Amino acid sequence: MEAAIERILISPESLKTRVSALAGEIVDAFGEAPDGVTIVAILSGSIIFLADLIRELPMRMRIALVPVSSYPGRTTRSRGAKLESAALPDLAGRDVLLVDDILDTGGTLRLVQREVAAAGPRSVRTAVLLRKRDKASPDVSVDFVGFDIEDVFVVGYGLDFDGLHRNLPYVGVLRNETDSGS
Ligand code: 5GP
Ligand code: MG
Repeated sequence: MEAAIERILISPESLKTRVSALAGEIVDAFGEAPDGVTIVAILSGSIIFLADLIRELPMRMRIALVPVSSYPGRTTRSRGAKLESAALPDLAGRDVLLVDDILDTGGTLRLVQREVAAAGPRSVRTAVLLRKRDKASPDVSVDFVGFDIEDVFVVGYGLDFDGLHRNLPYVGVLRNETDSGS
C-alpha cells in the first residue's frame, strides 16, 4: 500500500462488484429511454468510475465530460464549485445521467443539476460512487449511490489530493489530512 494512504476503505473487488450492481439499477431505471442516454460526467474525479460504469451499461449513449472544480490544489476543504457551462452538450429532450465521484456538501451537484435542468432535458438522474453520510444538504438528491462512507478525505479510483493518487485501484483514506490552504 502506498505510504500516503492510512488505510483502504473500499477494495478493488468491492468496487467492481458494487459498480456492476449499480449499472444494473441504472439499466432498470432507464429502460424506456427511447433515444438512449446522455451521460454528463463531472471531471476529473469521476474518470475511473465512469470508465468502469459505462462498460457495464449496454445502452445507446452519448458522453459529455464537464470540468468542475471545488477542491483546488492542496486542500481538503471545498471552496465552492465552478462549472464550465460551455462544456455542456445540447440536452434538450434528452434523458440525462449525471455521474460524479462523491457527494460531500452537495455544492457541486446542486450547481450542475441546476445548469442541466435549465437546458430542458426530458429527465435527469444522478449517480455518485460515494456519498458522505449525513453531510449533503437535503435539497440535493441522488438516484444511484455506490457506497455511503464516513466523513473522511478519500483518494484513489479517480479521486485526488493535489492531483495525486487518482490511479490507486482502491478507495483509501489519506494519511495526515494536510491542508496548506494554498
Ligand atoms: P461537494 O461540492 O459535494 O462538497 O464536493 C464534491 C466534490 O468535491 C467531489 O466531486 C470531489 O471532487 C470533491 N471531494 C469531496 N470530498 C472528497 C474527498 O473525500 N476526496 C476527494 N479526493 N475529493 C473530494
Ligand atoms: Mg469532483
